[in-house]
Amino acid sequence: MEEIKCIFCGTDSDHVVIEEHGYQGKQCAQCGLIYISPRPSLAEIVDLYGHDDAYISADSHIANAYPTRLYARHHLKIIRSFVKSGALLEIGAGAGYFLDEARKVGFSPYALEFNPIQADFMRNKLDILCEESPLDSSVFGGKHFDVVYHCDVISHLFNPVADFITINKILNDDGLLVFETGNIAEVAPMYFKYFQLFQYPDHLFFFSVDNLVDLLGRTGFKLVRVYRYPILPQLLAIGLMSRVRATIKKWILKSDTEGKHSLGDEGDGDLSGNSARPLSARTMIKHAIRNAYEYVNYLLRYKIGLITPKEGRPQTVIIVAKKQATTAGGMRPAFSAGRLP
Ligand SMILES: [Zn+2]
Repeated sequence: MEEIKCIFCGTDSDHVVIEEHGYQGKQCAQCGLIYISPRPSLAEIVDLYGHDDAYISADSHIANAYPTRLYARHHLKIIRSFVKSGALLEIGAGAGYFLDEARKVGFSPYALEFNPIQADFMRNKLDILCEESPLDSSVFGGKHFDVVYHCDVISHLFNPVADFITINKILNDDGLLVFETGNIAEVAPMYFKYFQLFQYPDHLFFFSVDNLVDLLGRTGFKLVRVYRYPILPQLLAIGLMSRVRATIKKWILKSDTEGKHSLGDEGDGDLSGNSARPLSARTMIKHAIRNAYEYVNYLLRYKIGLITPKEGRPQTVIIVAKKQATTAGGMRPAFSAGRLP
């Protein structure tokens, strides 16, 4: 564990705004960035993902085919409004469903993924090129990409400034960086209670959109567009669903102890669409209900949320940035609290 300062301002903070799993999220008084300090070492974090001990397991990444592909198609529409084809690298590619969808619409997919189970799944089931190495300018033999994409990855980065500089290096001239993350550092604290989990210590940093724009400016990128999607309706729905689920579980347990048939005794089946095993009618109904729930979740997140207020409220944001020509003034120096491996 090591104490760190704000990676942008280089100042200390004792303003704790999040406490979870024994970790503290401190907010910088100058720029608003929220960061875990003290935090685990880089080796401990790499270990977390390499041993499938991260908050979201490999199994659930692989099982979440339906919502992941749904979200992927939404995001690819945005990407395709800027660029229609080319080599696309996803950092932290999960089970690879985004890249599989990207290939369908004309991109050549490349994946970086630490988790060996997910990396195997991508290579063997989806036929996607995947390296299990950390982000580095030598990945895929020093190849350059037209698009670099990541989703809910920036909060996990040990040194976001250094990693964004690396992303800049591996992009072609005019290459696009597209990523999705939350806006927690600009959310009014009264809304924090709607987050069920901050997923500490997987998440090391929480940013505001201003922080992200600052990060892009320091690392050689020009902001192209910010898409903001208010997620309070989704957070409220998730809270409600988890209460409903808890009630149903209690009811099932009760009926089980009374010797009745359990809803859960056939397992969850394989939701990835890669199983040859036939599904029973009961399992198929369960999948249909789950997919309907995921579709409603998707509508709440990317469509219905849009008609609700944004100011100070939790949002998910998609950022589109372009690699700046190196002649245009170069990069601004950045304070770096993280130690590079
Ligand atoms: Zn700061």
